[in-house]
Amino acid sequence: MIEQTPSHLLPIIEKIETFYTSEVEPREHQLRHRLRNSLEYIDRTGKLHPEIQAARREIMQASGMEGLFSLHLPQSIGGGGLSRTEMFFIEEKVYSYGIDLAPGILSWTDGSTPRLIFVREELQDQFVRPLILGQKTSCHAVTEPDAGSNLFDMKTNAVQKGDKWILNGHKAYITNPFEADIVNVLAITDPGIGKKSFSYFQFESKDYLGKGFKHGRINRTMFDDGLTGELHFENLELPESAMIGNRGQGFEIALTSINWTRTRRGGMCSAWSKLLIDKTLDRLKHRKVAGKPLGRNQGLQWMVSDMYIDWYSARATSLACLRDIEKFGPWWDTNRPQEQIRLFALMKIVNDESFYRVADKALQLHGATGIMKDTVVNKLFQIARNLRIPGGTDESQRNTIAETLGLNANMQ
Ligand SMILES: Cc1cc2nc3c(=O)[nH]c(=O)nc-3n(C[C@H](O)[C@H](O)[C@H](O)COP(=O)(O)OP(=O)(O)OC[C@H]3O[C@@H](n4cnc5c(N)ncnc54)[C@H](O)[C@@H]3O)c2cc1C
Repeated sequence: MIEQTPSHLLPIIEKIETFYTSEVEPREHQLRHRLRNSLEYIDRTGKLHPEIQAARREIMQASGMEGLFSLHLPQSIGGGGLSRTEMFFIEEKVYSYGIDLAPGILSWTDGSTPRLIFVREELQDQFVRPLILGQKTSCHAVTEPDAGSNLFDMKTNAVQKGDKWILNGHKAYITNPFEADIVNVLAITDPGIGKKSFSYFQFESKDYLGKGFKHGRINRTMFDDGLTGELHFENLELPESAMIGNRGQGFEIALTSINWTRTRRGGMCSAWSKLLIDKTLDRLKHRKVAGKPLGRNQGLQWMVSDMYIDWYSARATSLACLRDIEKFGPWWDTNRPQEQIRLFALMKIVNDESFYRVADKALQLHGATGIMKDTVVNKLFQIARNLRIPGGTDESQRNTIAETLGLNANMQ
């Protein structure tokens, strides 16, 4: 018997069910034609269609009002105070509703990421509360056209001039750059001192748009998310207070948010893999080829068995990883032991690769219907392929695992 949701979380699960039925499902019905048709999912410029954008934001806000949106953050800053292990079950529930609007019930990269834990007390009302409540959105700008896997290639820099920081640079492949009310940027403040070279900044888009800060082009993704693009900073003058945490702490703060997205793979990939397994089973039982159910073929039965093995193994590994990660203390602590760093990487790679294998088989077993753009199977396949790049690629996770085991490229 697979591990069930712990009983103390059931009231929250019920609340999510009620919320989905009352707030999300009606909007999904209303926007069904847009959600199911990729050509209508984005507008003519390639950005997420304004109607979908508006519905997402309404859901985020309503979820914030219900206290669901930021369950993952500590209560000290207004979050729900749930552990990562507890959040696994919450995330698994939310993602079991699929890929339409339900994911907006919980914060993602464009919402209340754990960097908020490091925002100064006096700035909480401006930068923390509205994000925890889902009233504003944000973006987390780290990657650049020439700096992805290796952040030490970063060129974006901030130079202190009196009581101001002057920011220059260009960020690419950023989630939610155009709609973000609050922009977060990782920049180099002290070159040449390793991880301490970086600091993390935040500002309100409305205060600086056209004044040293501008949106760049959209990056059209293969899964038409309509949410990925570029940002430019040209002598952007920010106050000293724009720095999150301390000077030199930026790398570790950014990594806290990135590690959170890695652990978030657990419930998300489990729910979506299970959804694909159920859909595939249904097809193999009901699709007739030469007058007989497709599922009579042992070769295809074994493919489904492999999907189930992948789902079950990744789920069990996720729960084990999350419990081990939390043994070291608060998961957001920037003082990370090597073993914990390894577990964050392990969690991401196990989920991303197993979910991809599941999605690939589901698509194959759906035949031509799996290739059609506007099906859940096709959309999840594209998302599964994407997941192996952002938040650190498969190869980066393997590098991290090897490094924490004492292997590196400079060994003698
Ligand atoms: C949809 C989407 C959303 C994203 N959202 C954000 C966001 O919100 N914020 C943000 O900052 N970034 C975001 N990114 C960027 C993402 O984090 C980077 O794409 C990722 O870190 C990889 O960097 P890169 O694309 O430059 O690949 P590269 O660094 O150019 O790597 C290319 C390939 O080489 C491999 N490789 C590189 N170095 C090594 C090595 N040393 N050993 C072995 N293999 C190596 C990589 O694994 C990869 O397969 C997003 C990307 C996508 C696709």
